[in-house]
Amino acid sequence: MAKETLITACPRDCQDCCSLEVEVQDGKITRVDGDKNHPITQGFACPRGRAYPELIYHSDRILKPLRKKEGEWEEISWQEAMDLIEEKLRKYMNAYGPESIFQYHYSGSESITKKITIRLFDRLGTTGVSGDLCMQAGVSAQQYDFGGLEQSDLEDLVNAGGCVVWGRNVKVTHPHALPFIREGRGKGMKLATINPLSTGIEDNSDLIIRPKPGTDAALALGAANYLIQKNLIDQDFIFEHVYGFPAFRDAVEEFTLEKTSEITGVDQDKIVELALFFKNNSPVTTLLGYGLTRYRGGGNIIRAIDALSAITGNIGKPGAGVSYCSDRFWFLSKHLQGETNPYRRYLDMADLARGILEADNPPIKMGFINAANPVVNVPDTEEMKKALQSLDFLVVVDLFLTDTAKEADLVLPCTSFFEEEGVRVSSWSPWVYYCPKIIDSPGEVKSDEEIMIELAQRLGVKDFPWLNRNELIEWATEPLEKLGVTLDQLREKGHTLPPEHKSVAWEGLKFKTPSRRIELFSHKAKEEGNSPIATYLAPLAENYDFPYQLISAHSQYRIHSQFQVTPYIAKLNPEPRVIINPEIALAKGLEEEDLATIFNDRGQMTARVKIDNRIRPGVIQVESGWNVGSGGCVNSLLQTQKTEMGDCGALYDVKADIQKKE
Ligand code: SF4
Repeated sequence: MAKETLITACPRDCQDCCSLEVEVQDGKITRVDGDKNHPITQGFACPRGRAYPELIYHSDRILKPLRKKEGEWEEISWQEAMDLIEEKLRKYMNAYGPESIFQYHYSGSESITKKITIRLFDRLGTTGVSGDLCMQAGVSAQQYDFGGLEQSDLEDLVNAGGCVVWGRNVKVTHPHALPFIREGRGKGMKLATINPLSTGIEDNSDLIIRPKPGTDAALALGAANYLIQKNLIDQDFIFEHVYGFPAFRDAVEEFTLEKTSEITGVDQDKIVELALFFKNNSPVTTLLGYGLTRYRGGGNIIRAIDALSAITGNIGKPGAGVSYCSDRFWFLSKHLQGETNPYRRYLDMADLARGILEADNPPIKMGFINAANPVVNVPDTEEMKKALQSLDFLVVVDLFLTDTAKEADLVLPCTSFFEEEGVRVSSWSPWVYYCPKIIDSPGEVKSDEEIMIELAQRLGVKDFPWLNRNELIEWATEPLEKLGVTLDQLREKGHTLPPEHKSVAWEGLKFKTPSRRIELFSHKAKEEGNSPIATYLAPLAENYDFPYQLISAHSQYRIHSQFQVTPYIAKLNPEPRVIINPEIALAKGLEEEDLATIFNDRGQMTARVKIDNRIRPGVIQVESGWNVGSGGCVNSLLQTQKTEMGDCGALYDVKADIQKKE
């Protein structure tokens, strides 16, 4: 049979949301790479995207439901598996009430119908999981400042006079931004990199700042104060479009160059350079990274940077903006969830293990997890394992026996996105992507949606009317018509930009705040118990008795814990690595390629040493997502603490020590 090439989109929790070319021969996928005709993907996919064939055809993939019996896995039929889940759900709901069951769904593979799991369990009234590990602190921050979240298209970067890459490791987590940064540079755009870590774009930057981790709010407020004191701000823009400037001006007065330098560890002349970067290179686009928000004061960091951009007039015009994410498609999730149950009990994601173990009245007896691997991805791996082991019955839906699935009593095998039709939107891309069914699913795997529909039918759940996945997709895509997109068009033409799409964030400068301006003073923030004005909150890590800040950054070889099983990724990234500055290496007698133990009072991990003089002294950088068996699972060392807004895990606000492994 001839080869054919089909177009789909990567459903991983990644900023690039690539359009993918999939080569198929004789019903089998032989190659996956970036779509050459897509303006953002531009013909290249990252190593994870290229590893998809190895992932979906991996011999470890689960192809039939598995039940654990006396510690051993045995294959069972779907009939038996679903009978068992129904029996257990009914049993615990009747004996203890629905809140004795907890359900956890995250971002393992995304399409607009995947969160139907949450709807099902919401209607059952079970305990849910709230907060996140990713971006909510910054979401709350930008909601206070702008009343919503918009970001300009990547193509708009070439209109910028300056680009500040602040806390975002574009080479790793946003590689498709690089061609646009390069193009902008070719047109004379200045580039500033602000990050305590080694990100690989410093060498090509005009300004490099490596602040102490978690002190970026002070840095931005210090730069803002300098501009205010020198009268270098955009008075007209502030007059027309900013609310609360006088209060902001007074509040930031304390951030003198001297004090800012003391807090951030950044020389005073660099703080001035940063301030002037925003003033002199306008329009300036700032690309914000989620790493910025993984500290107690993460939301205020974003608010402080928003404020610096606002007072220099760098918002709402081509080439300017503060890019975090976009809420453009969030109405689709709201449609999918419908009216949610206001009486549900929730556990904090950032402190999930304790939540499960300490839940009372009723205690948690059963768990249902899909699209997630909390043992590796939520803080405190050992406690998380204990919490799952404490349950009477745990169901996990996954492609593989992950560290979480290993703790289950029943594992249901699910489809990959190549094996089902889907529609994909993301918080980072303006495109609506159509994902056709490309291959038949192997073995007896089922989609998450099919599993939820069958469970709903068995349990007689109201408000869950779909008889099959097709009906669900038709219904879930209906609201797209508001944007001028229909499922029929997508099926016919593939991905599309909605006709109404605006490529410049906040163009027209009509903000969604109560004052309709950018709010440097937010009454809403105050009502919700936060500072009304961006402020600096010292990182929690300052209180810990270990010498080095431990940052568990994303790797270009995994999305959270996924892809590690593939030989391609295993070859590129065979073992956990720790990056340190020569100063730490010298102090600890460590050399390149040594094996090191990184430890604190919570746990430890092992990693191979890489010495890099671009990382800030005092910082240890490891890769998130390594599984428990690798010895490099950093979440064993993470504290269960939260950001000041958005209920986000303050994952980087932690310290550790390092020593040579004997
Ligand atoms: S993981 Fe991200 S960069 Fe890689 S293929 Fe998927 S969307 Fe593209």
